[in-house]
Amino acid sequence: MPFRFDNTYARLPDAFYASVTPSPVSNPSIIRVNHDLAAELGIDAAILDSKEGAAILSGNQLAEGSEPIAMAYCGHQFGGFSPQLGDGRAILLGEVVRPDGVRFDIHLKGSGPTPFSRGGDGRSALGPVLREYIVSEAMASLGVPTTRALAAVVSGDRVYRECPMAGGVFTRVARSHVRIGTFQWFAAREDQANLKILADYVINRHYPEAVDSEQPYLSLLEGVIERQAKLIAHWMQLGFIHGVMNTDNMSVSGETIDYGPCAFMDTFHPAKTFSSIDHQGRYAFAKQSSIGQWNLSRFAETLLPLLDDDSPRAVLIAEAALEAYSEIHYAELQKRFFGKIGIVDGSQGDWALVETLLSTMAENSADFTLVFRHLADAIEQDDISLLETFFDQPDAITSWFAAWQSRLRQGDVDAAISLMRRSNPVYIPRNHRVEQAIAAAYEGDFSLFHRLTDVLQKPFTPREEFAEYEDAPQGDEVVQATFC
Ligand code: AMP
Ligand code: MG
Ligand code: MG
Repeated sequence: MPFRFDNTYARLPDAFYASVTPSPVSNPSIIRVNHDLAAELGIDAAILDSKEGAAILSGNQLAEGSEPIAMAYCGHQFGGFSPQLGDGRAILLGEVVRPDGVRFDIHLKGSGPTPFSRGGDGRSALGPVLREYIVSEAMASLGVPTTRALAAVVSGDRVYRECPMAGGVFTRVARSHVRIGTFQWFAAREDQANLKILADYVINRHYPEAVDSEQPYLSLLEGVIERQAKLIAHWMQLGFIHGVMNTDNMSVSGETIDYGPCAFMDTFHPAKTFSSIDHQGRYAFAKQSSIGQWNLSRFAETLLPLLDDDSPRAVLIAEAALEAYSEIHYAELQKRFFGKIGIVDGSQGDWALVETLLSTMAENSADFTLVFRHLADAIEQDDISLLETFFDQPDAITSWFAAWQSRLRQGDVDAAISLMRRSNPVYIPRNHRVEQAIAAAYEGDFSLFHRLTDVLQKPFTPREEFAEYEDAPQGDEVVQATFC
């Protein structure tokens, strides 16, 4: 019995989900099981590594205690409302409770059609499975709240996308899979009874401090706003572009969820997008700040009937809560970017240093990760040439460097250096490395996937043997677009 399931979502009313069994695959085999995560969650990884584990993690066999369900949700996709989404290729097997009492969903992705599949095959190609494994685990190691990867398996079947491809199944672990879109599902149906049940469920599971507050639903709204505002700032610190910030992909627990066409930027530009489906640049790097607010406004709308019986008053309450978003988000963003340039006790006047550096980087196609990581070396060795090499015009950075150096020398330079080294990773899941790992996997070679996953477990620690993973892509290695 690998999982000690203790399920709560399956106890909610029928309107919350559809019971559904995973569809078997032909010949499942394990690519990787995340032993550290399994140990943390009290899951028996030895079983998962066995033949029985391959059967369980592909959906061919139901682990004892599983109550497989596909969750109902809807949401705004690229700004337009889709009333009917839901788990179309994912199944919640059940929940486990970590020794400290935190509850986690165990969820299969790519395990066959559900009543929410809307004509889709319910399957996943191997590429997206490996991308989610690599990137979500990298995010966890970078310290970002995120869903986790418990396992990846090859299904032994082909899936048909642009061409036939090897299929895979991914096992995701999340604090829950409740999304803004889950609230929208009931709000759109004007089902206030179930909306209240959902809100109470989320409060109990994710915001227990709200239970005793005077206005629990307002506390819930404020809590979700705060976590999302901080989460998005954390993404931006690392040059992460989510790519599909639809409201059905925004978790109310404040974790990053749904790694589709996401990417870490190489060269910096605020308008950067990678997603092949983001034609308007709606989810571009710098737009993530305002999109977060837009998504939370959709969340607030769903809560109006719970905030006050008088609807104009409910709107005022929601608007006041939403005002906090910008304040929290930009304060967090400022703190994180000050950290990146080593400013320990930054004030508003220092922000120009961040802005000038970013605009100089954008004008000079400078690599986001390399520039920030080399700031500490440059000041430690008093050698601007360590930075100049990353800019099209090497002298573009001269005057900024002088101003920055004199600012840091007003304080403790050693503290600044150590702050920078904690704020700026050496290794990120660079797109070309992810693509190389996926391409090799389609040829049956998983060694690049394993190596990349291993390197990214310690993103802030430079290691000689992984030096090539620091590098920006060369010419034809540059990835322009990422796919779901
Ligand atoms: P996403 O873009 O991953 O957030 O997916 C949006 C919606 O499409 C969700 O409801 C998914 O479950 C559904 N979906 C995506 N791919 C498939 C597929 N291959 N089969 C069925 N449903 C899918
Ligand atoms: Mg999704
Ligand atoms: Mg997706």
